[in-house]
Amino acid sequence: MSLFKKVRNTINLLKSVDMDQLAKINQKIDLADAMKTLGKLDDRQLAGLMKMLKTKRKKGQHDLPPIDGDFYNLDLKLTEKQREIQLKVRNFMENEIKPLVNEYWKKDQFPFEVIEKFRDLNIVGVPYEGYGCPNLPFLMEGIIAQEIARVDVSISTFFGVHSGLAMGSIYLCGSEEQKQEWLPQMQKMEKIGAFGLTEPNVGSGVAGGLETTCKFDGENWILNGQKKWIGNATFSDVTIIWARDLDSNQVKGFLVRKENPGFKTEKIKDKMALRIVQNAIITLTDCKIPESDRLQNANSFKDTANVLRMTRAGVAWQAVGCARGAYESALKYTKKREQFGRPIASFQLIQNHLVEMLSNLTSMQTLCFRLSEMQDQELLTDEHASLAKVYCSMRMRDVVSRAREVLGGNGILLEYDVARFVADAEAIYSYEGTKEINSLIVGRAITGYSAFVS
Ligand SMILES: Cc1cc2nc3c(=O)[nH]c(=O)nc-3n(C[C@H](O)[C@H](O)[C@H](O)COP(=O)(O)OP(=O)(O)OC[C@H]3O[C@@H](n4cnc5c(N)ncnc54)[C@H](O)[C@@H]3O)c2cc1C
Repeated sequence: MSLFKKVRNTINLLKSVDMDQLAKINQKIDLADAMKTLGKLDDRQLAGLMKMLKTKRKKGQHDLPPIDGDFYNLDLKLTEKQREIQLKVRNFMENEIKPLVNEYWKKDQFPFEVIEKFRDLNIVGVPYEGYGCPNLPFLMEGIIAQEIARVDVSISTFFGVHSGLAMGSIYLCGSEEQKQEWLPQMQKMEKIGAFGLTEPNVGSGVAGGLETTCKFDGENWILNGQKKWIGNATFSDVTIIWARDLDSNQVKGFLVRKENPGFKTEKIKDKMALRIVQNAIITLTDCKIPESDRLQNANSFKDTANVLRMTRAGVAWQAVGCARGAYESALKYTKKREQFGRPIASFQLIQNHLVEMLSNLTSMQTLCFRLSEMQDQELLTDEHASLAKVYCSMRMRDVVSRAREVLGGNGILLEYDVARFVADAEAIYSYEGTKEINSLIVGRAITGYSAFVS
């Protein structure tokens, strides 16, 4: 290290430390030596040093925690401001969420206290313009999804359903009045949203086969049917319900308010994944909705698909976060855990697992980064988003299972976190389009043949 760099690093460190930290730093850097060196500088050298200290750091150079799972330094492609947001979310997740999740996962409950804390982060509705939303690039939505899922996939699902699917439906399909009513409150998390598309009998086939119906009776829309798997719906203030119009046979979207007497929810219990997410079966019985609560710009399933296209990239990023959390936990564990008198990280076969994990993770990250760039450049198509969902959810499964493997028996214990990633990965694998359905979307695009039904 050059003389200047040594001194600069020392001064930078000294600027931000208290006495306890100083003692720790002194163990790593010989402070007395650095100061002696400083005293020997002549005027010209000192002037040069001062200039260097005043020079703005190069993009990406930060005195911030190391990122083990960003091997190709994608963070260097973010602006300082974007990087600040990324780290703000990371610190929040590490300090406020991580200590809670295993307990709530075990109890199959949602930690409502986090809603208040999330509010202060101001990251809800990241890409939307207006209505108090941050209006940042889609890339940041992806980066944030990764950061949240890196610590807990349930919390990232809660967040994705609220900020992506529910707010996204209103943002893309709502009238100006509907947006004004809901989006500012949802941005502040004063109101929470859910998104009801899947049904007990209709999952992959929602595009053509919704059984939930709506009919205008001259005064109100009347909704009947059931929805299954609807995240946040047990407590959401508003749930977007997609239903087939009995008259036009087209799919329409509705803002269904919690207090509506025709709207009942029942929590789905005993899940082996995403246990913190409160998924519900919704029953709609002659549920009356005024025309003012019909999403005014949702006229067919194409509009529903626009919402899904927008959010599917976020799900691919969630898979990255899940894989990253598992990889980073596994890497840390293998450096600490000793067998045969040596850390298991020093064994060739363990390193092979770690490298396989890291290559998967790195390819997922770089693919998603480009996907988000395309989204920001308005080049994103259904098949682009589907390919990312297919690829990332497959690679994620591989990463989490290797992470579980290198932890040995501890890989199935909640306290080591990896077990939770293994279980939660199974939900990401299925929701927002299964592997088969997303493959069929890509297959149709590249061959020109639709193979959904043979
Ligand atoms: C934890 C969790 C949270 C969820 N949250 C929500 C939510 O908030 N809102 C919401 O609306 N939905 C939600 N879902 C639903 C989710 O989107 C569906 O589970 C998913 O779309 C698959 O539908 P399905 O489970 O009914 O499976 P099915 O459609 O019954 O599929 C079963 C199997 O058949 C395969 N298959 C189906 N059709 C074909 C075909 N043509 N060719 C080849 N294979 C095929 C599928 O790929 C799958 O492997 C959630 C699901 C889970 C598990």
